[in-house]
Order: sequence, then C-alpha cells, then structure tokens
Amino acid sequence: MTCDVAPQQPGWFYRLSSFFRRKFGEPVYKIPIDAGFSCPNRDGTIGLDGCSYCYNPSFAPFSRSDTAVSISEQIIRGMKKNKQALYLAYFQSYTNTYGPLDHLKALYDEALSNSEVIGLSIATRPDCISEGILEMLENYADRCHLWIEYGLQSAHDNTLNRINRGHDSASFAEAVNLTRNRGIYICAHIILGLPGETPSMMYKTIDFLNRLGVDGVKFHHLQVIRHTTLAGQYMQGEVCVYEKAEDYIPILCNCLEKLSPGIVIHRLASQATSEALLIAPHWPESAGEIASLVEHELKIRGTHQGSLFKISTM
Ligand code: SF4
Repeated sequence: MTCDVAPQQPGWFYRLSSFFRRKFGEPVYKIPIDAGFSCPNRDGTIGLDGCSYCYNPSFAPFSRSDTAVSISEQIIRGMKKNKQALYLAYFQSYTNTYGPLDHLKALYDEALSNSEVIGLSIATRPDCISEGILEMLENYADRCHLWIEYGLQSAHDNTLNRINRGHDSASFAEAVNLTRNRGIYICAHIILGLPGETPSMMYKTIDFLNRLGVDGVKFHHLQVIRHTTLAGQYMQGEVCVYEKAEDYIPILCNCLEKLSPGIVIHRLASQATSEALLIAPHWPESAGEIASLVEHELKIRGTHQGSLFKISTM
C-alpha cells in the first residue's frame, strides 16, 4: 500500500477529510470536472450500452453541455462554492485517461495551472491505463498530490458480466499492480447491492481490495437511474435495491469492519445529483447523516474500520 499517512485513532472509519488534514494540515476539496471524455464501453470500442447502472449526468454535476466550459472555468466555479481552501481537480465524468497522451497532458496541465489546485484525482476504467500513461502520471505525482480512481464495482466476474462492465477483476488487479510504487494513490470504486450479490460476495470484494493494498475505497449503494439498462430490469422486477438506509448500513458496517484500517474512505454511499433522475431508492438522509448512522452503528457494536481485518486467501 502506498498510503503514507496513518489513520488518526480513535475513529470509527478513516475519513478522506481526516487523511487530508493530516497530510496538508487543512481541508482539501475536490472540484468535479467534465473534460469532455468518452468511454470505451459506450463508443463501441468495448461496447455501446455502457455499464447497466450508468447514466453519467446522474453522478457528475456538470452535464455534457457544460464541456463547452473550459477546465479553468469549471475550477473557478467549483471554488466559489467553498471557502478558502486547497483543491484537487477531480476528473470525474466518463473515462479520464481515455485519449492520446498529449491530450491528457494538456487537460491535466490546465487544471494544475491554477495555483490553488494542489493535485488531481482521475477517475478511469482499469482497462484504460497503460505503461505510457502511468509514466506520465508518475511524473505528476512527483510534483502534485495524485489519486487515480479505478472502477471495480465487484470482485466477481459473473457480476461484472451481468452489469456489462466490459472488463474482469483480473484487469483491475493488473491496473493496481501496474500503478503501485509510483507515488500515485489508488482508490477503488465499489457498489454494494449489485444484482445477484449476497453479503458474503461483497465481503469477498473487500478482501480482494485488502489483498491488493489499495489506498482508498469509494462505497456506493446500488441506485436505479433513468435512461439505464438497470432501470428496465428494475421495472421488470429483476433487480432489488436497499429501500431504506437502515437496510444498507449494517452491510456497509460489516464491510468497514473487514476493511484494512489504513484504507481511506472517500465516500460511504452514492449521491445522485438529481432526484428527478433517481428511480430508487429515495433515502431522506444526507451524506452527513449516513456517516452519522454508520458511526452510531459501529459505536453500538463496539467495533471500527478494520476491527475484523485479516488478509485471507480466496
Ligand atoms: S460507469 Fe464508467 S465505464 Fe461504465 S459506462 Fe459509465 S462511464 Fe463507462
């Protein structure tokens, strides 16, 4: 694991805000950016339909029409929402390493040209990375704070097939192994409650991440979004969701107990940007309230992130 900042104890789980405060001594905010990328699982390179749950405008605050807005302008707009602070440019929409090296470099350089941006967080697919891209990112990591966020969603290939990810878990492991030891922090995105998955399957995904030694995890609960394949499956009664946060919190806490205590938690649950796009579930709780519920549950249990952590062989 490349994570070089130990969690501050005691704590129920290792918050990203805590990691940033320990590393930089002040808050760091991520500014979401749509840099106009596409995705090989949508443009026909891998597939045309995309992942079954994906409709990008539902989780990226800038719509595609906003790509006419430059990266510099998106950063300035994002800063206005926050007080004086440090910032990471979060290349969030679609697949943010999917392009020629010189194009990628121009985009990342534009983001870093703002003196208040101390680094980058780059979301991508594990099969859209290469030695050349990683060498370039390694150079950025020498001079700025750099996270790469790989979508995994599940460590189970039958699930990945079912949700049409277009890659397998071995592809994710290979990307992590290629990225390791370059000074780049590695975050994995996973979804709890995917079709056909039992809790024990989700815990195996946690074990998979522990063994690979990622630095961060972003948890999502399955959300059904309009304009997706999943929406049709949900309407047909083929897919279930956690109807209430109370259904999700115990599973999430079980995952946290099994997760290495040194892995930073970037997020605890999905955050659809538009209620109008969200079919289900509709939880009234805010992200902050979900965090409070998680802390409350762990407190009642007398446990914390990593209290059941052990590396096992699958
Ligand atoms: S979730 Fe990511 S990889 Fe899947 S279709 Fe959407 S943008 Fe592409």
